[in-house]
Amino acid sequence: MYINGDWERGSADASFAVLNPADGSVIAHVPDGGAERARAAIDAAADAFPAWRATTAYERAAILMKAHALMLERREKIARTMTEEQGKPLRAANTEVRYAADFLVWFAEEAKRVYGETIPSARPDQRFMVLHQPVGVVAAITPWNYPISMITRKLGPALAAGCTVVLKPAEATPLTAVETFRVFEDAGFPNGVVNLVTARDPAPVGEEFVANPKVRKLTFTGSTAVGKMLAGRAAGNMKRVSCELGGHAPFIVLGDADPVHAAKGLQLVKFLNTGQACISPNRVYVHRDGADAFLETLTGRVAKMKAGSGFEDGVTIGPLVDEAAVAKVEAQVDDAVAKGATVLCGGKRLTGNGLDKGNFYAPTVLDGVTPDMRIYREETFGPVAAVVRFDDGDDILAMANDTHYGLAAYIYSQNLARTMRLLEGLDFGIVGINDINPASAAAPFGGMKDSGLGREGSREGIAEYLETKVAGFSI
Ligand code: ADP
Repeated sequence: MYINGDWERGSADASFAVLNPADGSVIAHVPDGGAERARAAIDAAADAFPAWRATTAYERAAILMKAHALMLERREKIARTMTEEQGKPLRAANTEVRYAADFLVWFAEEAKRVYGETIPSARPDQRFMVLHQPVGVVAAITPWNYPISMITRKLGPALAAGCTVVLKPAEATPLTAVETFRVFEDAGFPNGVVNLVTARDPAPVGEEFVANPKVRKLTFTGSTAVGKMLAGRAAGNMKRVSCELGGHAPFIVLGDADPVHAAKGLQLVKFLNTGQACISPNRVYVHRDGADAFLETLTGRVAKMKAGSGFEDGVTIGPLVDEAAVAKVEAQVDDAVAKGATVLCGGKRLTGNGLDKGNFYAPTVLDGVTPDMRIYREETFGPVAAVVRFDDGDDILAMANDTHYGLAAYIYSQNLARTMRLLEGLDFGIVGINDINPASAAAPFGGMKDSGLGREGSREGIAEYLETKVAGFSI
């Protein structure tokens, strides 16, 4: 843990093990911080806030730029830590470190663009001026699936805005957070500006975050259930909240699209991070005309994917995070098959070649998925492409919107008018159009409905950490 500029190692009875999901081995032990250490970190952040907010945007930007450079310099080492505790292939881990660093440079730049405004008054003797100021101490909770980019996507804008922060990373991936904080330490953030509390049980730390009056803002990425619980508790204490939660992305391939191109795109985005992404396509709607060609290309590519440790050459599919994740995927696939879906490839746990010790499930393609199946409604967070064929008479927009989630959606089409109508009608915050990567530090990321509150990245991302103050001058 890193509190007020000091590293705390924890004792033997106050630490917990971090496991490698590819083989179940113990990688390290990290301190098990509870409510008391969270409080100490919040106190440190509160004490550091007055001096930090008084720095100029240029000073804050310079430190963020230094952190950006250090993160890139240490990219390989951080990526190795990530692959070891999270499982993703080393190349993907490297890509994520670069993506994480993007948020540091983007918000270093945005820090200098926190403009206010002047507003004409109806009174001749009055002037209005609007200021945007940091909200104060920010508490951040991040998930294990993107162990570094979810940290910088929150801390980058918070620090740029002039806030001080306390982070609690996911219990499965604290080591990447430790590496990130070494970067912050070496970049020169003053003591207490950035604080890290690791914990085996997130609940007491979460409760401290939502109850402690010194925390002015909670930013959370994780499951919808936990996000709703925390947002509810935070509401009771009138704290600002941003939540980036689950998703159930439709991936729509219209009849005029090139089904082969769409299948290649789906294979890349669906199996990224072994399907453990909130923007991962969960319902693949393919027009009947292109369905056979689509499935042939998709199945051919998926069957060739190689599962294993992310350190092995050629591995494109890593383990799931834990046994519970494998059991959930297995249950959804079994349920779909029992209700009539066809397994075109995969459809089982992976064993043999040492995979038994890890949490591996075969990349899977299901055809004939229907709305009564669990996979049609529940987020999968695993390597399963669930395909639904649709016809001209079907209301594809209503089908795509038939979910309580609203994070990402994808459209494949060459027809501009149909695409535009679909785009405007979709109740999702992020839409990829013939594109599988609609995320960037420069673009707003976030969801509607049960997928969350607020946006991260882009100029909107820093606004989440700013209060508005108006001044009325009598002159
Ligand atoms: P996932 O299903 O992706 O693991 P979670 O919502 O359980 O989603 O976890 C996301 C983050 O939320 C993690 O950092 C986890 O430790 C944290 N978390 C889980 N439960 C709680 C809780 N009761 N209070 C605070 N944080 C929590």
